[in-house]
Amino acid sequence: MDFPDEKAGIEPVRLGYDSQFKFKCHKDIKCFTKCCRGINIVLTPYDIIRLKNRLQLKSDEFLSIYTNVELLEKTDLPVVTLGLVGDDEEKACPFLREEGCVVYEDRPTTCRYYPLGFASLSHKEGADDEGFYFFVNESHCLGAEEDKEWTVKKWRKDQGVDFNDEINAAWTDLVVRKRSFPKNVMLTEKAKQIFFMVS
Ligand code: SF4
Ligand code: SF4
Repeated sequence: MDFPDEKAGIEPVRLGYDSQFKFKCHKDIKCFTKCCRGINIVLTPYDIIRLKNRLQLKSDEFLSIYTNVELLEKTDLPVVTLGLVGDDEEKACPFLREEGCVVYEDRPTTCRYYPLGFASLSHKEGADDEGFYFFVNESHCLGAEEDKEWTVKKWRKDQGVDFNDEINAAWTDLVVRKRSFPKNVMLTEKAKQIFFMVS
């Protein structure tokens, strides 16, 4: 799951499952690993389980070493984000090394979606509101200049997004539902704590 990046001023152009785009990411590309710096990655509950298992840590150990808790924009829900490391200008994902991502097979859902983002009132494929995808066109990313064609559907399958979304479905529904509430509908601190605990 992802949302249009309002901070980056990205105008979402609606893409469907069969929409086509060009993209290829590889180790010899000039921008290699630039997308893993200066980012804000929200971790879903399943992302956390995969990462903590990969690192052979308990959940609380993983959370305290690698993550921060933030209130998700427009929802006021407490979520877990990856904590970046390094100096201010080059702050990077803690799993980034010179050779690339060291947790690639268990990378978070947001990393799998990229360069696509997703916006919806419901995550479910085939639901009345099937949402829409948009291309995250960031100037540092040169992948769109490469000559490899995808459809959204093929990209989701190739990157394992379908699988992750299925497992994250109930959590995603809660987040997108809260996002659709009128601004004056506030959650109590207790409700936020329960959401965080259940997540
Ligand atoms: S092509 Fe884009 S996704 Fe791939 S390494 Fe470069 S910036 Fe990252
Ligand atoms: S988890 Fe891997 S792919 Fe995602 S930002 Fe970190 S290094 Fe990059």
